[in-house]
Amino acid sequence: MQETVIPRPEPVTLAVQGSSARFPVRRIYCVGRNYADHAREMGATGRELPFFFGKPADAVLNVAEGTEGQMPYPPQTHNLHHEVELVAALGAGGHNLSPEQAARAVWGYAIGLDMTRRDLQAEAKKQGRPWETAKGFDHSAPIGPVHPVAATGDLTKGHIGLTINGEQRQTGDLSDMIWSVPEAIAYLSTLFELRAGDLIFTGTPAGVGAVVSGDQLEAQIQGLGTLRVTIVQA
Ligand code: MN
Repeated sequence: MQETVIPRPEPVTLAVQGSSARFPVRRIYCVGRNYADHAREMGATGRELPFFFGKPADAVLNVAEGTEGQMPYPPQTHNLHHEVELVAALGAGGHNLSPEQAARAVWGYAIGLDMTRRDLQAEAKKQGRPWETAKGFDHSAPIGPVHPVAATGDLTKGHIGLTINGEQRQTGDLSDMIWSVPEAIAYLSTLFELRAGDLIFTGTPAGVGAVVSGDQLEAQIQGLGTLRVTIVQA
């Protein structure tokens, strides 16, 4: 490998269920408002085209099967919100994919948390500014192991939910998505050339809310097990 003038950043990888090999992360794209009940709680009124934002790949906090992640409470917020989401991990990419091609590009699925500084997001919306500091901060993307689609099949329905300290906060069904996973990826591929290694957070059902230091989060998606994350004092 070519010599570098500063240490090379560590590549970001995710654990893979049933394998010792890892899934390398290229980019993280996120879909906004993709469940009707959450869109309503955020103020939307009707079906709109999907919209997207990003997180840096190294915002990932990977939590291996059977372990518990520790997410430091981030600075500069007093309103850190949880958003449980199905994450699609791409094994292929391309431009202008059809939904059928997009479905075939999915290598696997994981449970993810799109952690959000809601106070900074509200201020950014008000001022017409970017969401970067609200969405793309360090450790803002806790994520469990990738389950190969070869083992899970296409995930188009099933429970998605989140508890805090054992209490149910978010609940929904994957079939409630406004834009299905293949539809969202197909549309995203008209805006960006997608590649193997890209992760797509596909939106969250209703019930988002604040977490505080010490909270124990359990995110569940039928077929993908449980993602456990504790919020810790930074
Ligand atoms: Mn989200």
